[in-house]
Amino acid sequence: MKLVTTVSQVRQQVRAWHDEGLTVALVPTMGWFHEGHLSLMRTAGHQADRVVVSLFVNPIQFGEGEDLDSYPRDLERDSEMAKTVGVDVLYSPTVDEMYPAGFQSMVRVRDLSMGLCGGSRPGHFDGVCTVVCKLFNQVEPDKAFFGEKDYQQLAIIRRMVIDLDMDVEVLGCPIVREESGLAMSSRNVHLRDEDQDASLSLMRGIDHGRKRVAAAGGSIDAAELVGEIEKQIETTPGCRVDYVRIVDCDSLVDVKTADKNSRLILAVKVADRVRLIDNGSLV
Ligand code: AMP
Repeated sequence: MKLVTTVSQVRQQVRAWHDEGLTVALVPTMGWFHEGHLSLMRTAGHQADRVVVSLFVNPIQFGEGEDLDSYPRDLERDSEMAKTVGVDVLYSPTVDEMYPAGFQSMVRVRDLSMGLCGGSRPGHFDGVCTVVCKLFNQVEPDKAFFGEKDYQQLAIIRRMVIDLDMDVEVLGCPIVREESGLAMSSRNVHLRDEDQDASLSLMRGIDHGRKRVAAAGGSIDAAELVGEIEKQIETTPGCRVDYVRIVDCDSLVDVKTADKNSRLILAVKVADRVRLIDNGSLV
């Protein structure tokens, strides 16, 4: 595995592969790898000849007072992990390489970015879209892999690629969970032993939703179900609901009836310290 840090290095390598007729996959990440990241890398390796993983903690997608400074970072650790799953290039640019002096352009996917996490984190998805657009332009991958863990992000990236005629195939991969049901996340490193029960409130909410929809024969009033899940989470010690929503799985617009076309999406602040997100289908 090669470690590269500049736009010209990664571009040169990928162009050489393309000249040989090889296909190239990109897996964009912010590092501190876990099995969720590794599963994306493995899937990418099965679906393309070469795999580039980008590792960049993107400052412009963090808001004031968010966890940019405390975001876990360890290039050596990540590098060792990426090697084990056959990654060909780990691309880890500096902030100055990504955003040289004078940088001022942004990409916005307007409506899809407004609600859910975009409501709680204004400007977050503009930062995500801008860096992903730059990564696509720098790496020029044939395919790019994203996790369903960040369901809204995946929908926004798909929209951006269509709207801006980007020549890359976007593929979504299923959520990887701990045995406990907790969705894997780099931010789980901030959870303490005593946060265990609170951190499982998201998965319990999804399970509750699935049970209620199944018991009702496949569809149920969405507002009623959201109310039940919110109450369940709010009464769990250490939990504060950021949002619980049931939306159309493509447009991410709130639905009246939860059914097979809906997605339950939720964000919970645990112990006033760690913001967790999760989502799942209800059927
Ligand atoms: P991050 O480093 O958190 O920005 O994540 C990089 C990529 O890994 C994104 O496409 C995420 O959606 C994906 N990802 C993160 N956690 C998981 C998980 N538990 N299961 C599947 N994909 C994940």
